[in-house]
Order: sequence, then C-alpha cells, then structure tokens
Amino acid sequence: MPPGIFIDIHRHGKGEGRVIVNFDTSEWTGKEHWDGYYSLGIHPWFIGRQDCRAALQTLESALADANLLALGECGLDRLVGAPFSEQESIFIAQLELAEQCGKPVVIHCVRAFNELLRIKSKRKSSVPWIVHGFNNKPSIAAWLVDRGCYLSFGKALLHPNSNAAKVLPAVPGDRTFLETDDSGLGIDSIYRAAAAILQIDLPELQQHLENNFNRVFLHD
Ligand SMILES: [Zn+2]
Repeated sequence: MPPGIFIDIHRHGKGEGRVIVNFDTSEWTGKEHWDGYYSLGIHPWFIGRQDCRAALQTLESALADANLLALGECGLDRLVGAPFSEQESIFIAQLELAEQCGKPVVIHCVRAFNELLRIKSKRKSSVPWIVHGFNNKPSIAAWLVDRGCYLSFGKALLHPNSNAAKVLPAVPGDRTFLETDDSGLGIDSIYRAAAAILQIDLPELQQHLENNFNRVFLHD
C-alpha cells in the first residue's frame, strides 16, 4: 500500500497536509485572504458578537466557492451561548444554506441531542451531518449513526477511558472522521490513537478516511 495521507476535517488555525480550517463568520475576512479548504459558519457561542443577518449573507455569498467544503461549525449548545431559541433559528438558517449548495454541515452539539435529532427528522435534510468532537455515550452515537450522521473524533481519543475511545470501534468505518479542532495537536497523533484503538494499520485507516473525505466533501 502506498503511504497514506492525513486528513484533518476540522481545525482552528493553519495545519499540515489536507485540512479543513474552520472560521466563524465573525473572524472571516473573505476568500481573497484564504486559499485552502475551509468551513464557515456561525458558532452558537458567537451569535451575540455579530449581526447574524449580515453573517448569513456572508455565508450565502461564499457557498459557490469550491474551497468551502462545509457549512459550520454550527449547532446547539445548552451550556454556553445565545438563548436556545435563537441558536435554533440560526442553526436552521445555516441548514437551509447547506441544502441550497448541497454541502455538508459540521455540527457542534452540547447537551442538545434530542433537539438536534428532532430538527433532523423534521427537516429531512439531504446533506451529510457531521457531529464534530464526538465524546459522548455509545447510545447517543448509535442514535446518530442510525439517523445517517457522521461522527468526527479528536483529542479525546488520546484518553483510553474516554467515551470517544469506547465509541469509535462501534461506529461504521464509512461514517468516521478525525480532527484536531482547537487542541493544537498534530492530526497524525489522532490517527495513531485511532489506529491503535481500532487495531488496524495506519495506512488502512488512512485509506478509509480518504475515501470518506472524497465521498462526503469532494463528492467523488
Ligand atoms: Zn471547533
């Protein structure tokens, strides 16, 4: 097998190799200032720091950019951020934009999985949903996977007793992604931890995740 590549589907700040760098609309300065892959969205934590109507327009005008691989991160957070009903309407507005351009959404969800799945079944969204930074109970993972979601795992995999490490082997390989998020780690360390947990060789894992990336983000 030829040497594989590392793919980081969600990172804040520049990274090595194939990486989707995430920007909140409040920090986005325009595609003329960025030449790599990116995701762009309104994070539930940052709703209050921006004019969301203008932010949605910014987002809409970026939809056709080939380097914009996903909408997000966006979603719901019971612990931090704007009032929940406002979070929900901003999230739904972003789902509609994702639907318009057929691109996946990267989802931030904290203590709101019931609401997330209610929205998912109600809207019959046709684009892939990727729940990022997954580190939750196996029952929630199974629930999300049954409803067609993808799960992305990050630094929690470095801790063998984390929920993420327990859940990973139960998630179908074609629904899995890896990420560094804001950890500052190299994506290779996350890959090595995942390969060890799954008891597979690194090149095999790389091949799976490259196939997933091509299918979900590049529509190959
Ligand atoms: Zn993030």
